[in-house]
Amino acid sequence: MNRDHFRVLVVDLDTGQSQVEQFDGRDQAIGGSGLAALLFEKYGRKDRPWSHADQPFILAIGPLTGAFPLMSKTVAAFKSPYHDQYTESHAGGRLALALRFAGYDGLVVTGCAPGLSILELGSRHIRIRDAGYLRGMDAYATGKLLRRIHPGGSGHRSILRIGPAGECGLAMACINVDTYRHFGRLGGGTVLGNKNIKGIIIQGDSGFSLPEGSDYQKLFATVYEQVTATNMMQKYHNLGTAANLQVLDDLKALPWRNLQQTSDPETITGVNGETFADKTLLRNGACSGCPVGCIHIGYVREKFHQDNRYFYRQVAYDYEPIFACGTMLGLGNPFEVLGIMDEMEKMGLDAMSGGVALAWATEALEQGLVSVRETGVELRFGDAAGYRQAARMLGTGANDFYTLLGQGTLRAAEAYGGRDFACVLGQEMAGYATGELFFAAQSLGFRHSHLDTGGYSYDQKHAEKDVDRAVQFLLDDEPGRVLLTSMVACLFARSIYTEEMLARCLDVLGYETLAGNLPELGEQIRCHRWRLRFATGFRPEDVTIPKRFYRVQTWKGPVDPAYLDQLRTRYIEALRARVEPD
Ligand code: SF4
Repeated sequence: MNRDHFRVLVVDLDTGQSQVEQFDGRDQAIGGSGLAALLFEKYGRKDRPWSHADQPFILAIGPLTGAFPLMSKTVAAFKSPYHDQYTESHAGGRLALALRFAGYDGLVVTGCAPGLSILELGSRHIRIRDAGYLRGMDAYATGKLLRRIHPGGSGHRSILRIGPAGECGLAMACINVDTYRHFGRLGGGTVLGNKNIKGIIIQGDSGFSLPEGSDYQKLFATVYEQVTATNMMQKYHNLGTAANLQVLDDLKALPWRNLQQTSDPETITGVNGETFADKTLLRNGACSGCPVGCIHIGYVREKFHQDNRYFYRQVAYDYEPIFACGTMLGLGNPFEVLGIMDEMEKMGLDAMSGGVALAWATEALEQGLVSVRETGVELRFGDAAGYRQAARMLGTGANDFYTLLGQGTLRAAEAYGGRDFACVLGQEMAGYATGELFFAAQSLGFRHSHLDTGGYSYDQKHAEKDVDRAVQFLLDDEPGRVLLTSMVACLFARSIYTEEMLARCLDVLGYETLAGNLPELGEQIRCHRWRLRFATGFRPEDVTIPKRFYRVQTWKGPVDPAYLDQLRTRYIEALRARVEPD
């Protein structure tokens, strides 16, 4: 499987033509985030809007995918409908291994299909098929129908699809990957919708060889044992990321009711990890190539006839969607939270962005900035029925209000007022009201994600206000994460895949040059990504923090506005220094 070049399938939807291209640069770009940047450099149109037909939609995997456990992510890269800048989104599921077994390190899709279509590919075939019959269909039903129409390959096949939100052009539209995983944030669903692609089916229908001899087998066994026989991954295996809800509430770091509170000791017990597991958990799942299985799948049950007739649906839950569709909306019942997540899933909406947007809409309604004429339904913190209806209206862009809200909460706040209480840090916030460093880091992060750096974790351990030390932490932390996302390791495994372990894994597969240069490569790829981001219009000075964040109470006391502003100023300087010539 060791190749000194990248093998990338390039599909032009305008002509229907495709070809397999070889790219040099393995020893500089590694894969994942690095490969995506390399491909955007070649195919991206930095000076054209995201909606230009030539803009590429890129998928990229890494050199260890298929050879070691938890190398299970795929990086999607595109120019974002949310802010019209270069970005990445990451997803698990079966996609990474399906691409590996189809024989590709990456996929580039350019152009626009003449009508709504499905792109289907494997190691020896590629087809673009008409899919007009799927127009407007929700993401669940689309997956079900695609599995029926395109049978075979179960377990080796990955199905990506979008819902109504991606078809109607919302910047919050996600891409559903194999039902329980997502390219969630920054509008990947609308990038596919704009290309007239309702779904992509990837068949992992070939094989590849692994190194002979015992070195590889021994190293694999070592990694596998660390993953399964130590407590390093126990948290994810047991309650999953939902375990964090109680921890963060105890720490006064969990956003409640549009971030009006950071703790609610009475209500949290209804939606913490234990309650979800005790009451709602049906089963667990795992991304391909992962023995941990952190995917927790609960259920929603609905009565559709008075003679006790019910149907039920399975809904995967994680910390982030529970925060956004639960605590942010003041809900304390796990089934109600799953019901709202279920609507978001069907619509193909990013649950985090959607939940935070509805929390803002609730407060805007309370303050009289909008009325039920705009929201279409009464929205009250703690009232799940209204939120389910609102999620449907948001996901279909049901009126001018929801169409604008679906482009981003700040866009709606510009039109209706209420900017001060919009919980937006570059995009709708992640669920960590831990303090100043996290707010600065998410607002200025490459993906505006809590996983860009460990700022949320730093806040939980450091009460002192040392600007130099905090900014240095962010700067030192990012390259290691970029290295992992270039390998496409699940970031939950970051304690196992240390730089030393990654070097050993690369070495045993024959990537000696990569293995010997990891720290330098992490830094190089970090800078390359940021250069692309700036070249596509990112101006960190334009990213502001709404007033609500300056009034947050954390375990350290109230947020210190001066410290927060100093962190942002210094981090902006540091980012600029990385993209500007000496
Ligand atoms: S730990 Fe969870 S997210 Fe990570 S690879 Fe395993 S199942 Fe997927």
